[in-house]
Amino acid sequence: MLPLSVWESESFFSHKDYIVLGCGFTGLWSAYYLKKLHPHRSVMVLERGFIPSGASTRNAGFACFGSFTELVADSKLVGDKEMLELLEMRFRGLKKIRNVFGKQRIGYEETGGYELISPTQYPDVNLLRTRIDQLNQQVRKITGIQKTFQLHDSKIKGFGLSGTAHLIENSLEGQLHVGKLCEALLQLVQSLGVTVLTNTEIHKLESSGKGVELFSNLPVILKAGKVLVCTNAFANDLIPGLDLKPARGQILLTSPVEGLKIRGCFHYDEGFYYFRNLGNRVLLGGARNKFLKEEETFAASTSAPVQEELEKFLKEIVLPGRSYTIDQRWSGTMGVGKEKKPIIKKINDHLFCAVRLSGMGVALAPQIGKTVAGMM
Ligand SMILES: Cc1cc2nc3c(=O)[nH]c(=O)nc-3n(C[C@H](O)[C@H](O)[C@H](O)COP(=O)(O)OP(=O)(O)OC[C@H]3O[C@@H](n4cnc5c(N)ncnc54)[C@H](O)[C@@H]3O)c2cc1C
Repeated sequence: MLPLSVWESESFFSHKDYIVLGCGFTGLWSAYYLKKLHPHRSVMVLERGFIPSGASTRNAGFACFGSFTELVADSKLVGDKEMLELLEMRFRGLKKIRNVFGKQRIGYEETGGYELISPTQYPDVNLLRTRIDQLNQQVRKITGIQKTFQLHDSKIKGFGLSGTAHLIENSLEGQLHVGKLCEALLQLVQSLGVTVLTNTEIHKLESSGKGVELFSNLPVILKAGKVLVCTNAFANDLIPGLDLKPARGQILLTSPVEGLKIRGCFHYDEGFYYFRNLGNRVLLGGARNKFLKEEETFAASTSAPVQEELEKFLKEIVLPGRSYTIDQRWSGTMGVGKEKKPIIKKINDHLFCAVRLSGMGVALAPQIGKTVAGMM
């Protein structure tokens, strides 16, 4: 190992006021807010990949406000208050993203979102209407819109969907290019004076009364006054005991489909299936609920059973009778737990974490970053 020069030890590897681990949306928004709050303090972000290599650049690119059945299920699981808190965070987060970057640079399109309701899900359409009204009443205070969710069955045929009894439109959902957003965010924090080191994997953290020492693949022990862990599902490697486990999400992308009718973001089955158009291609992901145990994995590959299930859904529901090929398949790792709420936690005076954004991190991360930066 080469000994460090004085120049190296007094710049890149010098003591930092704040070090953030993980260059996904949570780490980058946290670094953004730390620098905004403390322009004269040093902030560094460390990332183990050559580029940000977590869920943030491997997801489906939904500017995800939330689907009707998912929000109803969340209410049952965690109660109305927590469901609405998470919804408000997403609503504000999406606004923040649009305000900071505009739409064009990050491919943000306010396409609206749609949820497919199968014939067996809500056999009584009047009950469905009542539930939609109830949810609209609950979310009105947040969105300022009378009818955030509306039944739009007349659009089913226009989109060419099959096996769908009802379609619920949500005007606040949109889609974006998450690769471009991540790149833009990285450039933004660097322009604010944040140092970013990639290809740097942290193996161990040691807190003392003065700060935190970070052991990594670098030829030096890094030191910081305060450290924030934003390594998503991998955070237990550095902070054991968090209620956090991996959940692999798998995606496929079709070839261009001639005369493709679907436009926008689509959800099905409490958000466990999701698809959108990407130009004239269809990006489809999910089916994890059918293989929950198998998909509780850090493996970065795709698996045949999930991909076959996705292909079946594509053929039967999304693109019946159309011709296409599958051009790309990939997976990413979400951090999930018993609770749906993200973990924003002070471990000790010098160590903090912001993790477990499950499948909603694009919209949640700005608010999580703001909260944890304030806490630090
Ligand atoms: C298939 C899939 C589809 C999804 N679709 C959507 C969607 O459409 N809309 C939406 O809002 N959300 C979606 N999500 C969820 C969303 O992507 C995540 O909630 C969000 O990206 C989490 O961001 P993060 O910064 O917390 O984590 P990550 O983006 O995972 O970032 C963590 C970073 O930490 C790095 N790291 C890990 N360990 C170490 C270490 N020891 N040292 C240094 N660096 C380390 C990783 O390389 C990674 O870059 C999806 C997720 C998946 C997997």
